[in-house]
Amino acid sequence: MQFTTTRGAGQPVSAARAICLGLAGDGGLFVPERFPSVDLKETLAQPDYPALAALILEKFLTDYDPAFLRDTVRQVYGEAFGEGTAPLRAAGDGLYSLELWHGPTCAFKDFALQLMPRLLVEAKRMLGDGSTTAILVATSGDTGKAALAGYCDVPGVTITVFYPSHGTSEIQRLQMTTQQGGNVAVYAVQGNFDDAQTGVKRIFGDADVARQLAARGVHLSSANSINWGRLVPQIVYYFHAYGQLVRAGALKAGDKADFCVPTGNFGDILAGWYAKQMGLPVGKLICASNKNDVLTEFFATGVYNARRPFYRTTSPSMDILVSSNLERLLYHMAGADRVRGWMKQLSEDGSYRVDPEVMERIRADFGAASADDATAAAQIRELFEQRGYLCDPHTAVAFSAARRNKSEAPMVVLSTASPFKFPRDVLAALGRPLPRDEFAAMGALAEYTGQPAPKALACLRSLPERFDAVIAPDALRDVVLGE
Ligand SMILES: *Cc1c(COP(=O)(O)O)cnc(C)c1O
Repeated sequence: MQFTTTRGAGQPVSAARAICLGLAGDGGLFVPERFPSVDLKETLAQPDYPALAALILEKFLTDYDPAFLRDTVRQVYGEAFGEGTAPLRAAGDGLYSLELWHGPTCAFKDFALQLMPRLLVEAKRMLGDGSTTAILVATSGDTGKAALAGYCDVPGVTITVFYPSHGTSEIQRLQMTTQQGGNVAVYAVQGNFDDAQTGVKRIFGDADVARQLAARGVHLSSANSINWGRLVPQIVYYFHAYGQLVRAGALKAGDKADFCVPTGNFGDILAGWYAKQMGLPVGKLICASNKNDVLTEFFATGVYNARRPFYRTTSPSMDILVSSNLERLLYHMAGADRVRGWMKQLSEDGSYRVDPEVMERIRADFGAASADDATAAAQIRELFEQRGYLCDPHTAVAFSAARRNKSEAPMVVLSTASPFKFPRDVLAALGRPLPRDEFAAMGALAEYTGQPAPKALACLRSLPERFDAVIAPDALRDVVLGE
């Protein structure tokens, strides 16, 4: 299996090279040149999550040794995740919640970021690349911690995370500043997520930085979902959810299921579309957004317009105006020539319009809806009071969108974070009194709901903070160059 770029330049590359490179040389994203099909019966017959993951990954990562893939997914998904890896819970009215937050950092990003470092190290070995990979991450919260946990003490790799000094939840901040490991560094950047992200993007585009680092045998890479290695592990849990629906008797093998995905960078939902291309019986994929509803508008009008106000919401991991992975969908639907034109318009004018006939094909597979903070909060309360089901604000946005797009088919909502990552917002949604302190809020939430806070979050209170540096956005370059 080879990978081409969404902007059409250059020769196709192997999976190992696509994972090492991250972004293609023409500024595009790597995509598989075709979609391998899988036999639905075979996926349903797999005994557990690691076996299913090996079956799916082998179809795309054909240059990796299948024995390496089988061992690695067993280590990652067998050991690092609890509660059956990705359990499906019934939430009433034909809705189901696929809980993707039982990994080490309590966010769905663990599915990709626990595996990708191992794929990267193996890729470098296969390609004879002895350089040091310096991973730079700008994060609004979850990506930073999940990447730190995944790359901690991985040989030949260093990781530096930049988070906005005003932007993450207190729990998310502590998850990062208490990170262990000899190859990790964490900085707060004065300002909001855009300031941190712009600083990191500037470094990736700085030829002088690249030259100075190359002289020391170092090259930069990203842990962002533009990397193919982050997308492919996410395909697996769509098959896993479907298998659980069949086993629960909620549908017959071959019948369609709908999925609703809380969306930011469009990576998680795109993995669902890839599963559909491989033969999973998926009806609609519903793209759920918060008040930053650029995608909802896009699916309704065909116009992608990033020139709009940016809102900070209670679902910060979806506070995004430029959804990078949409470019991959547009490539599959319309080809490289049109994608190049649209991306040029996006960078020059901040918007582009997709042809109606392309939108018609996109709408055959996708629906979209948005929910503001108050709607999400009401959803948290309703689910808990009527069904005893507790969810976080990102998942609540998706539940709200799912209800408005429900068909006859079962609807699986992807639950992307533990509610205990956002204890104050969840307590407030439940109409409970608010303690000032985050850990008191975590305790109050556990007490009121009768559910324990995940150990990885509760223990943050007693861990020493290792990183306290706050830097100006223009100091990123010096940090990366070690000056
Ligand atoms: C990253 C994240 C999302 C958005 O996922 P994308 O792949 O960027 O669309 C949703 N919810 C949570 C909790 C996240 O951390």
